[in-house]
Amino acid sequence: MPTKKFSIVTFASSKVKELRRHATLPVKFEKQLASYPLDKMFADKQVAIKIHVGSDMGFTTIHPLFIRLLVAAVKKAGGKPFITDGSGAMHNAKARGYTEDVLGAPLIAAAGVANTYSYARKINYRSLKSVDLCGNIVDADAMIVLSHGKGHGNSGFGAAIKNLAMGCVARDSRSKLHRLQGQQFTWDPDKCTRCRACAENCPSPDAITFDDKNDLHWFDHHCRYCRHCEESCPKGAIKIDSKGTYYFQRGMALTTKAVLDTFEPNRVLFINVMLSITPFCDCWGFSTPALVPDIGILAATDVVAVEQASLDLVKTEDFIRSSLPESMKLSEGAHLFEQIHGKDPYLQVQCAEEIGLGHRAYRLESVE
Ligand code: SF4
Ligand code: SF4
Repeated sequence: MPTKKFSIVTFASSKVKELRRHATLPVKFEKQLASYPLDKMFADKQVAIKIHVGSDMGFTTIHPLFIRLLVAAVKKAGGKPFITDGSGAMHNAKARGYTEDVLGAPLIAAAGVANTYSYARKINYRSLKSVDLCGNIVDADAMIVLSHGKGHGNSGFGAAIKNLAMGCVARDSRSKLHRLQGQQFTWDPDKCTRCRACAENCPSPDAITFDDKNDLHWFDHHCRYCRHCEESCPKGAIKIDSKGTYYFQRGMALTTKAVLDTFEPNRVLFINVMLSITPFCDCWGFSTPALVPDIGILAATDVVAVEQASLDLVKTEDFIRSSLPESMKLSEGAHLFEQIHGKDPYLQVQCAEEIGLGHRAYRLESVE
């Protein structure tokens, strides 16, 4: 019988067993990094450290100390690291303490200052014929995908796959990825009497709004596909097709592959920072309290395994009900992120495994 393949995911827990420096997360993170052959992976290489810098009033992005420790480890291994994110995001970096002085490496816009430096790659999936990968990421020799794990309105979960697929492509390509969601929600203005039962029965604030002309607007990011609006509409004016969620997540997996294909084997490390696990993406420009207690930092050379393990660990933690904004209600779902956003967060991981990016089976190795 063939043995089932699995990948190793290292785990530095945020829990502190004793009041000693070495028992704390930053020191464990250093040990975790030392468990990888960083010299073989990164010596003499230009190493892109892809982060998401967040914006405005957000304060739950990755603490600069962890990035500084990572930069130091890459330099010690002989690598030449630079920190990168979209060009628009670079303007927000300083406000979060992300400067060369603090981090120890330059910050370089992924697609150049004008956000136009990119390379086209074919995808050929439904309407997503191609994507434009950020030029400075393609030009790098190696990459560390350093992601803050949290919930996400469009994909249920945002960490490494999201950081790669949406964070390493030009703005137009992000729009094309979002368009894969297609016409999931259709509203027939001729049938609609503007009774607003749909909005009143919607559990997600602002997923359905009406403008000054009394026309209905639907916001895919906030929609949980619960179909309450469709079911409560007395005129049959709303139709919902949830297949678009699958197309979007499949598109993200294929774009992730396109990014990773630009690197030689064993030149990419994935690190998920599972701290301040908020319901929404850092791009919102504000932060809400963590949904579960801090978990720690997971790392792997397999993007599928690190995402699967991160989601599984969220599942084992107690949900802090008071952290969810009062206007939001939980609905059905096997995972907390699905109960919040109505999108199965494992779907992107499943798609990534199906196209050969790694294994959902993993073994967790704790770093103490
Ligand atoms: S499907 Fe549910 S969440 Fe989406 S708009 Fe309709 S009622 Fe709101
Ligand atoms: S419930 Fe139906 S008829 Fe009433 S406002 Fe909504 S779409 Fe229009």
